[in-house]
Amino acid sequence: MTSDSKILSFEVFPPTTQVGSSHLVKTLDSLRALSPDFISVTCSNNNYENIADTTIKFADYVNNTLNIPAVAHLPAAYLDKTQVIEILERLREKQTMKVLALRGDISDEATKKDFKYASDLVKFIKDYDSSFEVLGACYPDVHPESINRISDFHYLKEKVDSGADKLITQLFFDNNSFYDFQERCAIAEINVPILAGIMPVINRNQILRLLKNCNTPLPAKFIRILEKYEHNPVALRDAGIAYAIDQIVDLVTEDVAGIHLYTMNNSETARSIHSSISSLFKINT
Ligand code: FAD
Repeated sequence: MTSDSKILSFEVFPPTTQVGSSHLVKTLDSLRALSPDFISVTCSNNNYENIADTTIKFADYVNNTLNIPAVAHLPAAYLDKTQVIEILERLREKQTMKVLALRGDISDEATKKDFKYASDLVKFIKDYDSSFEVLGACYPDVHPESINRISDFHYLKEKVDSGADKLITQLFFDNNSFYDFQERCAIAEINVPILAGIMPVINRNQILRLLKNCNTPLPAKFIRILEKYEHNPVALRDAGIAYAIDQIVDLVTEDVAGIHLYTMNNSETARSIHSSISSLFKINT
């Protein structure tokens, strides 16, 4: 286990095929050796089984087969109250008592209307059973739908006041935007631990997807890497891993509450990063 003061966690996503499913089991087995504080399992609308079933299945595997605490993602946009209660009951039965309560990405499949915002779901879960640890999402570079930064903070405070115990950030590539965000949280008396979400960018398609789905600004240093190694996949992967390590070393040195690594189900990358940073998590300062 890592030290009490700093959390190291990983995120995986349930696959859409049976082959992907076996691959994820191998990935999780490999991540186990890195002794993370928890592994979170996303929940989207395009899983090959029922959305909740897939997330619960893998969260159960992490929690009860690997004995690593699991966090099940629950996106409100795909779930009504009855389904949330069913899921909470199933999770409780499997002693999986951590969830990440989200609004979810709005799409044609996201038709459920019981919870308009993540904070409505956070409150519902805490009222249902306060022994669930409820995490929430936050955005150092501001959520794309927000009118402005101030309203984003106002609603983030509402999420924490509704019962969110911890926050995990959207990925970011400029640590200064995280430090600025953290400072504003302190001013707004958002006092729960904030885990920094880090995504190692290891290939060109991943970057193109990111640019399409996320309004995270790319620092000049990062763009130079992309341009220089665009046609050299091995160099781009190495540079992407080195960039993530550099971000993590800086964040941990600045006493971040924790690092949440978006693994993209790639245990090799996670292992490579872990081998360069694991000792930082063992120092109690
Ligand atoms: P909210 O906190 O509800 O915020 C959404 C927007 O509404 C923001 O602009 C906020 O400022 C605004 N807002 C909040 N409350 C109010 C209010 N009362 N009145 C007016 N405006 C308000 N998506 C998935 O589908 N599945 C996943 O597994 C998943 N995992 C994620 C994990 C992490 C760590 C992160 C950062 C994101 C994840 N997402 C996932 C994506 C997430 O669902 C989207 O970013 C979504 O657009 C917003 O979710 P939220 O929980 O932050 O929403």
